[in-house]
Amino acid sequence: MKTKPILNEMTPYKPGKQIDEVKREYGLEKIVKLASNENPFGFSGKVKEELPRMLESLEYYPDGHAREIRGAVSDFYQIGEDQLIFGNGSDEIVQILCRAFLEPLTNTVMAVPTFPQYKHNALLEGAEVREVVLTEDGHHDTETMLNKVDDHTRILWLCSPNNPTGVLLGEEKLKEIIDRTPSHVLIVIDEAYYEYADKEKRASSLELVNNHKNVMVLRTFSKAYGLAGLRIGYGVGDPETISAMEPAREPFNTSVVAQKAAVLALEDQEFLEDTVTRTRENKKAFMDFCDSIDLRYDDSEANFVLLHLPISGDEMFEYLLTKGFIVRSGEALGIPESIRLTIGSKEDMKKIQGYIEEKVKQEEEI
Ligand SMILES: *Cc1c(COP(=O)(O)O)cnc(C)c1O
Repeated sequence: MKTKPILNEMTPYKPGKQIDEVKREYGLEKIVKLASNENPFGFSGKVKEELPRMLESLEYYPDGHAREIRGAVSDFYQIGEDQLIFGNGSDEIVQILCRAFLEPLTNTVMAVPTFPQYKHNALLEGAEVREVVLTEDGHHDTETMLNKVDDHTRILWLCSPNNPTGVLLGEEKLKEIIDRTPSHVLIVIDEAYYEYADKEKRASSLELVNNHKNVMVLRTFSKAYGLAGLRIGYGVGDPETISAMEPAREPFNTSVVAQKAAVLALEDQEFLEDTVTRTRENKKAFMDFCDSIDLRYDDSEANFVLLHLPISGDEMFEYLLTKGFIVRSGEALGIPESIRLTIGSKEDMKKIQGYIEEKVKQEEEI
């Protein structure tokens, strides 16, 4: 048998450590997972209340057109229903985009490090991946990225706030990129952390979609809405682009439960606002802590912070594991001597700050 040769050069996605795994390995009672940017405040109580009723009629396939959530998102953001495509997480929208746009002899341009699924799916489609290193302070190097675009470029990926740096691409910058990108290139702005970003600073990206046929925005219910376990996200684009992509989507790609839960989650803006407020407060406190002990970090508008360390990311990762905290080592993300940690509850942040300080001080004494 023979697979696509590219598969020999690829490895499956390596997720952050699982809670049960760490409990077993380290004999710990309580584990705090700050590795995958999930919502430490859970998800909407309205969703939880309705869950039992969502489990009726599971013998039927879901609505392949996702009418109810389509209507809800369309109303909420005042965009056309025909501008939306739903996926099993926005991860799947990335996959659908790659299936629909990329093939051998085409290329796609992205930052590095950024969300790994753009590259992963592009390689599977046989496209050339052109990666452009982020600037020193974690911004997209837009000048170099634009220089990499040519006649064979199909997708330009922008991640804002960028994972793993958290750095936001502002409206001015986005407009400049859009103006300078040839119209045959689809510009995908992945806004998985949009809700967390400063309302004054974040771009009116849906307006950009409305004004430019070649712009698509990706959003998700996994992060600020806290529904990572249910898997639902979406893309917003030009109706023609959306309908061109549709054949590349599996017919029943989002579940009954995910569709219903997303509607209720979107309605519960109180929960969302509370999540965002608490996260931003705790993030500010964490950044103040970092300043107080002279640790450098990237300017994050997301619910995580990339923290630069005087020691290897792996070393800090291992140390925090022994204390019951799972974070992401920068080594695994392509930024050595750093860790990426999700902003957690106030109590957990206080504890992890203590351990980080302890480890850094230990190191200074050696
Ligand atoms: C988490 C994340 C996603 C994917 O989230 P889904 O759970 O698949 O919706 C997409 N993009 C970025 C940058 C992310 O960090």
